[in-house]
Amino acid sequence: MDRIILIKYGELSTKKANRNFFINTLYNNVKNKLINYDVKISKDRARMYIEFRDNELEDIKSIIDRVFGIHMYHIAYIVNTNIDDISNKVVEILKNETFSTFKVETKRSYKSFPQDSMEISRKLGGVVLKNIDNVSVDVHNPDILVQVEVRENHSYIYLNNYTGAGGYPVGTQPKGMLMLSGGIDSPVAGYLAMKRGIQLEAVYFEAIPHTSLEARNKVLELTKKLAAYTNYINLHVVNFTPIQEAIYKNCRSDYCITIMRRMMYRIMEKIVKSHNGYVIINGESVGQVASQTLTSMAVINSVTNVPVIRPVACFDKLEIIDIARKIDTYETSILPYEDCCTVFVPKHPAINPKLDVAIREEEKFDYQTMIDEAVDTINTIKVREEVNEFKNLL
Ligand code: ATP
Ligand code: MG
Repeated sequence: MDRIILIKYGELSTKKANRNFFINTLYNNVKNKLINYDVKISKDRARMYIEFRDNELEDIKSIIDRVFGIHMYHIAYIVNTNIDDISNKVVEILKNETFSTFKVETKRSYKSFPQDSMEISRKLGGVVLKNIDNVSVDVHNPDILVQVEVRENHSYIYLNNYTGAGGYPVGTQPKGMLMLSGGIDSPVAGYLAMKRGIQLEAVYFEAIPHTSLEARNKVLELTKKLAAYTNYINLHVVNFTPIQEAIYKNCRSDYCITIMRRMMYRIMEKIVKSHNGYVIINGESVGQVASQTLTSMAVINSVTNVPVIRPVACFDKLEIIDIARKIDTYETSILPYEDCCTVFVPKHPAINPKLDVAIREEEKFDYQTMIDEAVDTINTIKVREEVNEFKNLL
């Protein structure tokens, strides 16, 4: 083994008191994601190290690119911590590169090493100039930046910087329940929530036969895409048909969406509580549709005290779409299958609904029993990125 993946933790370095918890969570997350690869993973307080097989490197990179809590990583050559071994390796590496200018940058965390970092860089620069023809040092804009980390047990040399997913490791916060529709916004909301370390479960409200199995499949597909950022995601499918039908039969049409969303929030609260969750997460964005004006949001939100996190509340649609493309959910989200909201959408939904009217309207049917029934009949599917465990449901 002469190369290693060297991971820098990034944001979690600032959390002094929780450092070990953060590092251990990240370590377990990396281990879970690389379970099928021939790797050896180790860690200390500053870095995580992954030994790998060359032919698996590209796959491993694409996996760790989606592990939150990794700020940056490098594919580094590993050598013994002595100046001769380091010098020889630097020359050997640079002999395979085409460049005319270079710069050496050294970080020395092993303070007993005889030279300080400036001296090491200068010495290595000299060795390169002596052994490789027609190259010169450029400290401002070099073709190649040779980075050297001198640590007690081993030293590392790398020419590359790979940006990691950032954020905090998933699981450093407890569970949050994402309302996942088949649209563009809610998968992005789920991604952003996971990025803050929230352990995600997803809830999908379906109204078969008004919505199709294709619509459900689309949500499953989106859940799979989100699961790339964590170990797995439990997807709870709620049969919303009886409630939807009761709303449209009994309530005034301009309040149907308001009331439907109040019912969703009531069900969400029950799911949060029965699964040890702490928050509801959704893809609401201020002003986007009638149910997302501030007045609508207030009337809808008043059914629960469970905190509601809306990661895209203040994003423009185009900003949300940018993220959706980046996380590869966009193409799935724009597939044409209907959602339970769109099927029942009234011609003139109330933009500024009144709380007392909403309460009066929803009291026209026995929603409490129906909510209990909906919660009791939830279908839960464990969704992993790579495994399609739900074929048999369709
Ligand atoms: P998306 O917001 O996912 O793009 P959308 O904009 O059509 O879809 P809205 O009707 O605006 O969805 O609903 C706002 C939010 O409510 C969604 O982002 C989602 O979090 C939640 N939601 C809506 N419909 C459903 C559903 N059928 N199942 C679960 N959550 C839903
Ligand atoms: Mg939306």
